[in-house]
Amino acid sequence: MRYIREFRNGQAAAALAGKLAQEVDPRRSYHLMEFCGGHTHAIFRHGVQDLLPENVELVHGPGCPVCVLAIPRLDLAVELAERDDVILASYGDMLRVPASRKRSLVKARSRGSDVRVVTSATEAVRIAQENPENNVVFFAIGFETTTPPTALAILEASRLGLRNFTVYCNHVLTPSAIQSILDSPEVRSLGSVKVDGFIGPSHVSTVIGSRPYEYFAREYQKPVVISGFEPLDVLLSIRMLVDQLNSGRATVENQFLRGVTREGNLKAQRLVAEVFELRAEFEWRGLGNVPYSGLKIKDAYAAFDAERRFGLVARPVPENKACQCPAIIRGAKKPMDCKIFGTVCTPSNPIGSCMVSSEGACAAYYKYRHHRGLAEQPVSEKICRSPA
Ligand code: SF4
Repeated sequence: MRYIREFRNGQAAAALAGKLAQEVDPRRSYHLMEFCGGHTHAIFRHGVQDLLPENVELVHGPGCPVCVLAIPRLDLAVELAERDDVILASYGDMLRVPASRKRSLVKARSRGSDVRVVTSATEAVRIAQENPENNVVFFAIGFETTTPPTALAILEASRLGLRNFTVYCNHVLTPSAIQSILDSPEVRSLGSVKVDGFIGPSHVSTVIGSRPYEYFAREYQKPVVISGFEPLDVLLSIRMLVDQLNSGRATVENQFLRGVTREGNLKAQRLVAEVFELRAEFEWRGLGNVPYSGLKIKDAYAAFDAERRFGLVARPVPENKACQCPAIIRGAKKPMDCKIFGTVCTPSNPIGSCMVSSEGACAAYYKYRHHRGLAEQPVSEKICRSPA
């Protein structure tokens, strides 16, 4: 349990919070975006937010791979699943995400479609080997962390000569999303979303390294601290950001030294470059079309591209007007701003992706804040009692 219990120690957290309280400048505010939904959940699960001074505000970012998938692209996954000759292999989180016209993968499965939950791309390759008479499509989603395993699966399918395996590729890139947020009118001109600095995702950064964030520090003067996911990691990263902002610095710092380097995992980067290339643009839920923000399968591996094999073309669909997911993904609103949060929309009846995903902001608010008893629990106890 080394590296887990130590980073959940309640006394250490209280001491760190005490130092932070002394270091913040009472004449200003600090708006820090945690890019990743994993951080959002860690912050609420361990009560980190309750330890922060009042003038430190955390802004939830778009780093939830399930939440940012545009509905037209989810519709295509449902349509693939509804084909008689297709087995759709998907990560479990995607099954209950509402597509348009009240459809979802789980509803398609209940009507007889063959939708299988997998925990890895390799599992989808195995299903293809075991079902040579069916087309097996792996529904690939996620940021840079999950891209190398998808590349490996395509290379493995190529080595095996599998003709019935394809990938429906929806992999997206973290730096492009950060840039889109910084360039959005809400941040740039309207000022309705304030972002002074970023808590950067450590798992993504183990692959891409800390170097890609240097652009944002240099060109936008926004400090970035790459942070681990335990409560003390997050608290320490916030303190590092406050220190940079107090001293007028904007650099990239790496709190997660135990896993992230400046260059990242070069072997994983080579794998991705072998199989994938940039799309000119890609539609994100909440962010719209973002240039060079998604990956597609290279021509050399076109035989494994489900979009080409099945001629998939996304069709625009209107968003559900009641659901505030797009604004929440941009950091412009919080889950409590949604009128149907916790009433019509709950984890057992999700109306939007942010309530379904294990990294969604609405799911985090519902799970850790919706019930008064937990909200009133002393923070240090929350951290100490967290299972290791
Ligand atoms: S509470 Fe539900 S409907 Fe409202 S924004 Fe969140 S996911 Fe969408």
